[in-house]
Amino acid sequence: MVAFYLSQYDFNVYKIKKIMSSLANNYNRRKISFKYGKGSFLYSTNGKKYLDFVQGIAVNSLGHSNQYLIKALNKQSKKVWHVSNAFEIPEAEKLARLLTKKTFADKVFFQNSGAEATEAAIKVARRYFFSIGKPYKNRILCIKNSFHGRTIAAIYASGSKKMVEGFGPVVPGFDHIEFRNFKPRFPNIRKKIKKSTAAIMVETVMGEGGIKPIPDKCLKYLRKICNEKKILLILDEVQSGVGRSGDFFAFESSKIKPDIVPIAKGIGGGFPIGAVLMTNKVSSAMKPGSHGSTFGGNPNACAVGIEVMNQIFKSGFLNNVKKLSKYFISKLENLKKNYPKIIKEIRGKGMLIGIQLHFDQLKFIKLLEKNNLLTIRAGENVVRILPPLNVNKKEIDLALKVLNKVCNEYN
Ligand SMILES: *Cc1c(COP(=O)(O)O)cnc(C)c1O
Repeated sequence: MVAFYLSQYDFNVYKIKKIMSSLANNYNRRKISFKYGKGSFLYSTNGKKYLDFVQGIAVNSLGHSNQYLIKALNKQSKKVWHVSNAFEIPEAEKLARLLTKKTFADKVFFQNSGAEATEAAIKVARRYFFSIGKPYKNRILCIKNSFHGRTIAAIYASGSKKMVEGFGPVVPGFDHIEFRNFKPRFPNIRKKIKKSTAAIMVETVMGEGGIKPIPDKCLKYLRKICNEKKILLILDEVQSGVGRSGDFFAFESSKIKPDIVPIAKGIGGGFPIGAVLMTNKVSSAMKPGSHGSTFGGNPNACAVGIEVMNQIFKSGFLNNVKKLSKYFISKLENLKKNYPKIIKEIRGKGMLIGIQLHFDQLKFIKLLEKNNLLTIRAGENVVRILPPLNVNKKEIDLALKVLNKVCNEYN
């Protein structure tokens, strides 16, 4: 009874706070808050237990309250919280070494978020051409209505009318191509590459835009064109990277090697951190003073990042992500067959999954939530499903049960 009384009290306090919120009004927040989380589950202040298949939007790669991450953070927090990049930071050194050992990259620059990482990627590309005496090569070719973050340059890189509304003047230096031109061989892309183009920047899997993976053969084609035109390939893996796709990077299945890859979301497992991964060739343009970040490489963030890497590269971990993804997606395909008037398409890779509906998805997401399953929207009427990478089959079956029930109610 006491527990009930308290949770009701918490809820009322929350409702009052909500009315008098001092937070800026730039989010459409759902009326739930959480007391604690464990693995795939979140426990709300009003006493409900939710299966959390949002996980902070692909951030909590190892679920809530992961014991290894808690241990890593506790240990580091008792030693050093923060030092300036004017000094050596062993934790950053170690995480960078892990990232280069396990990926295409030779060098890493740390940031704190995805938008900062994509901005740094743009800076590295421009600086590279500056360093080889071609400063006029500074334009970045991106996909229209993609997503690279919310900073002033990143919104213009994204080429979305809605995101730049009210944020003029236009930031120059970005060109755009439609994603549909990418199928099957992007016939118009050559015309879009000018003498001033420095790089092509795309999300390997378009996340916010509706979970649209760029097919491997298109990625191969992009690499080929970049080689031909002697420009750089930037693959934004802020959402699709760090094991989310079942490989460490979503581009790995295409066997290509990009020049620059910004990452963020999953690498901190819930702790804010971003990074730019790059080859020796392009990183050689970055000299002392050419870029910087006060918080980038923070010891606490890097200590957690190291532990995320350790867990993801444990034997069998990524294979299990692939195996469970295959199971999950095949069951969702069945669901689509059973409810063809509701579900239009199942999309995705690994644990980055989208259910495209034939209609606006918000009511559907609300119904899932009412049945204790948390999901989140993406573009093109997509219900986005982002389990933690260490999700188990039982939890996937629970989600499928709820999805079945809600589809049934919709019929
Ligand atoms: C989320 C995201 C970003 C921006 O990350 P923030 O940490 O919100 O700045 C950039 N690119 C992609 C592909 C993303 O999904």
